[in-house]
Amino acid sequence: MVSGLTSVGSMFASHPQFVVAGQSTATCSTHGEYQQTKYQSGRVTKCPECEREREQQRIADEKAAQLREAAERKSKLIDDLIGNSGIPKRFLSKTLKNYQVSCKEQQDVINDAKAFLIEFSSPQGHSGRCMTMLGNTGTGKSHIASAMALCVIKHYGGKARFTSVSEINRLVRESKSYNAEYTETEIITAFGNYDLLIVDEVGIQSGTDAESRALFDVFNARYQNMKPTIVISNLNINQFKDALGERIVDRLKEGGGLILGFNWGSYRG
Ligand SMILES: [Zn+2]
Repeated sequence: MVSGLTSVGSMFASHPQFVVAGQSTATCSTHGEYQQTKYQSGRVTKCPECEREREQQRIADEKAAQLREAAERKSKLIDDLIGNSGIPKRFLSKTLKNYQVSCKEQQDVINDAKAFLIEFSSPQGHSGRCMTMLGNTGTGKSHIASAMALCVIKHYGGKARFTSVSEINRLVRESKSYNAEYTETEIITAFGNYDLLIVDEVGIQSGTDAESRALFDVFNARYQNMKPTIVISNLNINQFKDALGERIVDRLKEGGGLILGFNWGSYRG
């Protein structure tokens, strides 16, 4: 064994590529003089500093390429998540920053939204408390809710979904058709699992009992999973309580859940 290895070693050692023919001093235009070794094969060693720099550059390039690929993968993932988020197109550029605050109540809402979002970065995750936005159309509820969903996707890498009561009802209705791709249970489970779910148009549906039950099932699934939900309604607090019932409203307030009144005039931001 040992003699075998030795003979392989000596075979290399005697190869013209490895037999030193001579040493001399060479000059690198950047690093100055260096000891150059010439081999029998004619190969000469290059400036060791240049070699070292080339190797460092190669490692740096490789690392940069890896980072670029990772960033591309992430941005593709974010694009997919945004594409599947259901956020209406006109709200895709909304942020909390570009919501123009013109009164203290609006600033309070922005602060509440930020506090709600910060929970996504806590080690134990979001508490699952809800946020309910009540007020007339045009007061900026969808703007703020969309900005929050985009923040969850972009900054926390979470899954956020913007839906409406009518969409939930339509999906549940379709699940009952003979060629449905999903069952009702799968739909409820999917809505129950998003890191953030926004439900628009709550309280205006005059649907069947089965339809109100679907909404309740979604709320319940999220409650069980401790996932936060943002509820949007054009109703005022009394109409909202009448429409949903005290029990659901209590649950929306549980664990620090907020019911926010967007009580200013129309907002265009
Ligand atoms: Zn050099």
